[in-house]
Parts: sequence; C-alpha cells; structure tokens
Amino acid sequence: MDRMNLNLVVGDTPIRNEAVSVYRARAALRAALEGPRRDRRTIGLVPTMGFLHEGHLSLLRAARAECDLVVMSLFVNPAQFGPGEDLDRYPRDEERDLWLAGDAGADVVYAPPVAEVYPDGFATAVAVSGQLTEVLDGDPARRSPAHFRGVTTVVAKLFNLVGPDVAYFGQKDAQQAAVIRRMAADLDFPVRIEVLPIVREADGLAMSSRNAYLEPADRERAVALSRALITVEREARSATLQAGLEAGRHELAAAGIEPEYLEARDAERLDPVAELGDRPVLVALATQIGAARLIDNVLIQP
Ligand code: AMP
Repeated sequence: MDRMNLNLVVGDTPIRNEAVSVYRARAALRAALEGPRRDRRTIGLVPTMGFLHEGHLSLLRAARAECDLVVMSLFVNPAQFGPGEDLDRYPRDEERDLWLAGDAGADVVYAPPVAEVYPDGFATAVAVSGQLTEVLDGDPARRSPAHFRGVTTVVAKLFNLVGPDVAYFGQKDAQQAAVIRRMAADLDFPVRIEVLPIVREADGLAMSSRNAYLEPADRERAVALSRALITVEREARSATLQAGLEAGRHELAAAGIEPEYLEARDAERLDPVAELGDRPVLVALATQIGAARLIDNVLIQP
C-alpha cells in the first residue's frame, strides 16, 4: 500500500486529523511529485531517521510555513552507521511518526525499505573530502569520514528524487549541516539549505532520538552537556576561549563525564580557532553517557 490515511491520539495531545501520504517506492514518490512540480509549487524536504521529537517537528513547521508542499523522509540509513554502532537498536515507531509528521504539516512521507534506497548492485558514493569530514565526528578514531559519506550519499539521492526548493536540517548536527552545505554547493544542487536552531528539553538537554537510550540516572547527568556549553560561551565572552573550554571541561568532569571531544572551530570551515574573532565559532562536544553517544554544540556569534 503506497498511500494511507491515519487516525491517532498521542498522549493528551489532540492530533489534527489530516491525511499524510506515505510512499515506499521511489517511482511512486516521483510520480506523486510530478504534478506539484509542474504547477511550480515549492517543495520543502525534511530528511529524518524518525522517532520524531520537537527538534524534527520544528523543521517540519518551518517547511510548512515556507513551502507549498512538505516532504519528510523517514529512513534509518545503514550507510551512515559504523560497525558496532546502534543501527540495530535505533529507536523506531513509524505509526507515531506519521501522525506527528502530519500534525506538524508534512504532506508526504517517503519511508522506503533499505532495498529501495540501496538495491542490489548499488556502488556509488557521494563524499565531501578534507577537513569538513575528517575532524570532530569525522576523526577516523570516532565515527570517521565514512559516516559523513553515508549521510551525503543518502541526502544527494533524496535531493535528486524529491527536487526540493528548500531542505531543512538542524544545528544539533552542526558538522553534518556544514558538510551538506558544501555538498549542495559543490554539486550545484538547486536547493536552499536551511539550518534551524537546536530544540532542547526544559532542563537544556538537546532533543535526540538517542535520548531514549538514557537510564534515569544518566538522563540526569546528561544535563551537564548543555550546562558545560553555556559555561564555555560565558567564559569565552568574559575571559578567553581557552578559559571557556577549560571551564567547560571542569563542568563535565564534575558530572563524571569525560568528553570524546570538546573543541572550538570555525563554524563553516571547521578549522580550529584559538580565540573569538569576526566569524561564528562552533563549540562542539561528543560524549558517551550510559548507552547513548550524545552530541551537542553552541554557536558563538561574533
Ligand atoms: P535525525 O532523525 O537524528 O537524523 O535528525 C533529522 C534532522 O533533525 C537533522 O537535520 C537533525 O539535525 C535535526 N534535529 C535532530 N535533533 C534536533 C534538535 N534537538 N533540534 C533541532 N534539530 C534537530
């Protein structure tokens, strides 16, 4: 079945009873988008791996406000998971996702099986080379450039399939956003890339599907991530960037957290920066907390 209409209530939240069209096949999706494209309706694309939270919904709402047709992809992309990562246990709840997506304004959801995206014989990759994919999460000792190759390959395929006027990404994955901007520019994709702010829980924890892995005690400890980043920014502005990073490390250590990295880099090029200057600085952090590998960041504007 390619198209379905659904009815659901999630918790106490009244869910708008609107139809969202779900496509599993590339050909069906392409066919469905032909009419809107011919009519010059603008298309917004929100790529996701599902298990939606307010971060995803903020992207959908922005797309709804700016575009005539909102397409969300829902695909846990095996190509961006390394060996030993959490592909098999990545949280999934498609029915709930379809409802939340429809409620936030999605018209179309593309939720293909793996074989539809990577059929037998698939042999192509799209990769951004150099520093953008080699530092932070791209460090070979961490997720490595292969992670970003998986991301850019699937996003390039989505851009070709959907032909969006605007594609929406979250600042939560700041490095991913920088890599995708580079890819879109380098390959002349006629798409505007919008990167929207991080949506956080009330206590500051950045929303993430992976927060579902956190046991209650780890969930409490995880608040230290956003606190440390606030500290870094405050100290960087009032003293020096180095003092800020030092204070941030202290804050993490006090919560028993040893970061994989806590680094300050140029927000666009990702080269290391030693002090605040006239360009935005990204302070990015990754750490394992209990069963979850979490990332967070703050963008320090000049
Ligand atoms: P994912 O499903 O984790 O691949 O995320 C899909 C999109 O949602 C990506 O562009 C993410 O950067 C974005 N996103 C994830 N978490 C958040 C958040 N807390 N705030 C804003 N955007 C987010």
